[in-house]
Amino acid sequence: MRFPWWLVVALVVSSGLRAAGWIDDWRARNPVWRGAHLLVNGPGTAREIETALPALRDAGLNVLIVQIDYAFAFDSHPEVRGPSPLSKGDCRRLAEACHANGIRLIPQFSCLGHQSWSGTTHPLVTKHPEFDETPGQYPGNKGIYCRTWCQRAPGRAAFVRDLLDEMVDAFGADAFHVGMDEVFILASEHCERCKGADPAALFADSVVELHEHLVGKRKLEMLMWSDRLLDAKATGFGEWEAAKNGTAPAIDRIPKDIVQCDWHYEPLSKYPGKPTEYGSLRLLASKGFRVWPSTWKNVDSAKAFTLEARALKEPRMLGPLVTTWGAVKPGVLAEWEPLRAAFAGW
Ligand SMILES: [Zn+2]
Repeated sequence: MRFPWWLVVALVVSSGLRAAGWIDDWRARNPVWRGAHLLVNGPGTAREIETALPALRDAGLNVLIVQIDYAFAFDSHPEVRGPSPLSKGDCRRLAEACHANGIRLIPQFSCLGHQSWSGTTHPLVTKHPEFDETPGQYPGNKGIYCRTWCQRAPGRAAFVRDLLDEMVDAFGADAFHVGMDEVFILASEHCERCKGADPAALFADSVVELHEHLVGKRKLEMLMWSDRLLDAKATGFGEWEAAKNGTAPAIDRIPKDIVQCDWHYEPLSKYPGKPTEYGSLRLLASKGFRVWPSTWKNVDSAKAFTLEARALKEPRMLGPLVTTWGAVKPGVLAEWEPLRAAFAGW
């Protein structure tokens, strides 16, 4: 069957307007972002989340970040599909269910770091060792935290853009979270291209590359974890929630319209530098970023961190973001005490 050209144009324009209208309406209704971050390892988890949405909405949740990584049926490069991938229909269904509950859905793909977890190496660098920052090194990932892709490997940037585009389109996303946390391997001595480079320059290059595509070309909002932009010594945090590996100066070399998810999971007394405040909040906001304070399972810390963020009365603080990292099932997340504590503080 052939449609007249004007009907095709009208349908395309009206569906674009509907999407744009939805997010404008969401922004108007939600001055505070109350979010949760969930790992999705396959269609089963997506269904569990879908079932949990009404209760989460009633608990005040209005944004959901779903970390998909390789659990996606990529067509552009099917060799990097994970073992239990979401189909594009699964993604569309979850996005529509979120929207029906007034919840904004933001997909996440871990960029640069986190290319392995424990002894399991993820498909990008398994199938394409030419993209690995440390190819052939650290068998079984012994002695390292996570593998990193090589920022300077020829062809790697275009390959990653293909993956991100597919995910953005499948979810009909208006925002995208690029991960970028806990990157420890950077400018490795095992990489001929990056050896001796400035880690902050490499890290900033990676952020700028993703921003040019996602914000510049695709017109999305971009989010990232902010730990690599924080100096561990200056902030008093350890080498996980802040950086000891030279990446922190990148804070002044990346676009300011990126939402910084500033994660701290412990009470202040637990940190090596014994800081008297979660100073990263003020620092990131002073640089011009919007900041999304991110908590986890420690209830005392969730309360203290969100209260401190709110007390700043800083318009760049978006609201509470609750991470879960497998500590709670989606079906009971709405009743989870750490979520209740963080949301109650804002
Ligand atoms: Zn490299």
